Amino acid sequence: MLSETTIAAISTPIGEGGIGIVRLSGPKAIDIADSIFINIKGRKIKDAPNWSILYGHIKDPDAGRDIDEVLVSVMRGPHSYTGEDVVEISGHGGMLPLRRVLEAAIREGAVLAQPGEFTKRAFLNGRIDLAQAESVMDIISAKTDVALTSSIMQLEGKLSRSIEKIRVVLLDVLTHIEALIDYPEEDVDELSTRDMRQKLADEYDSIEKLLATADTGRIIREGLKTAIIGRPNVGKSSLLNALLKADRAIVTDIPGTTRDIIEDYVNVNGIALNIIDTAGIREAADEIERIGIERTRDTVYRADLVIFVLDGSQPLHQDDRVIASLISSKKAIVVLNKSDLGRIVTEAEVNTVLPDAPVIEMSLKEGYGLDDLEGTITDMVYHGKAIASDEAMITNVRHKEALMSAAEALQRCLFSIDDGMPMDLVSIDLKDAIEALGLISGKTVEDEVVDRIFERFCVGK
Ligand code: GDP
Repeated sequence: MLSETTIAAISTPIGEGGIGIVRLSGPKAIDIADSIFINIKGRKIKDAPNWSILYGHIKDPDAGRDIDEVLVSVMRGPHSYTGEDVVEISGHGGMLPLRRVLEAAIREGAVLAQPGEFTKRAFLNGRIDLAQAESVMDIISAKTDVALTSSIMQLEGKLSRSIEKIRVVLLDVLTHIEALIDYPEEDVDELSTRDMRQKLADEYDSIEKLLATADTGRIIREGLKTAIIGRPNVGKSSLLNALLKADRAIVTDIPGTTRDIIEDYVNVNGIALNIIDTAGIREAADEIERIGIERTRDTVYRADLVIFVLDGSQPLHQDDRVIASLISSKKAIVVLNKSDLGRIVTEAEVNTVLPDAPVIEMSLKEGYGLDDLEGTITDMVYHGKAIASDEAMITNVRHKEALMSAAEALQRCLFSIDDGMPMDLVSIDLKDAIEALGLISGKTVEDEVVDRIFERFCVGK
């Protein structure tokens, strides 16, 4: 059911920009925009063709003054972002003009949009499903091209279609089971129990396959929490700088980007490394003679990946062994830096303390070893195989949990069939599995969950 209210919000970021957009959506979007908009030739938005742009001014309805010079675009429902009538007013991108335009729209009857309400309406109006709506937020926050590609695929419905395919098969089997329960005497049974079991087992495999993408998917979406640790002076900050410098896409191409912000993320072959505790890395070596064990322990604890830097030209130090013991249960890569000064520490020696960690010889001074490190990180995340860019991937914890409960329910179905349990029992678990899958697209989701998802959006989206 279409909403009765018309919502409005500033949809561009707060601050000064070339342009800024106030967006209106709802049954009165066009009327409200017409009441504050003046076109030189007297044209009205309501008479304008769909998807056209009008030039004019926004006037303050009370004071009668012009607020801003604008371009207005009109997109009538259902072919709009929300599925409702949408008007976008593009003005000058300053806080004051945008706020005045928004206030004028509100005075004419629009209500201030809640966070994510435009996208929520798109979902409620059936224009996109829940997984697609969630991908909008991922697109906005994507840190690397790979993350962007996977979110766009989700917006285009790739994940939803994979899930729906599984759900339809399960529904089919359920219908069949229910017929068996309702009319046990009739011969509805072209699908033998064995076929049914096979179908359920196949779909269980499909779910497991999707779930197997979740670890990579999460890393692609959220970044890989990475700790660079080691004794003072081994080259940790040199390594961070080298990684940042190699990451040209983010660091050098955007003039004026704050280093503080980008320093958190280093793009390694499409994987966003979220470097934790950069402050610890950057503290001048002479200020901390010893490694801060507590701090290192804490950093290691929070990390998905630990890069342990050693001075390979010096014998292993007692502190190196202490650090090695802190990271023994973590995914770790050992870097033997300063190999231009000699190679005292060997890979074999490192492997006696950290048997599973790949060891990389490096000289940041002479600039080698970095590619090797980046390749090793990529291999660890993708488990040696490149991700097929056309395959659906699980990047969202909510989706992962839903898939896990679907898989568990399906497994219970399979056990029940194998144990020769009555079909009623199988059907209960099968319904659970179907419902869990429906949570992803939003077919079976509760309002409260929907509200919670959209609360995390920004206003105007
Ligand atoms: P951190 O304390 O671990 O962050 O170490 P830094 O990155 O500050 O490096 C300490 C010193 O080692 C600096 O003077 C660097 O220039 C130097 N350094 C870093 N990497 C290398 C390397 O591969 N070879 C040599 N010879 N010196 C290096």
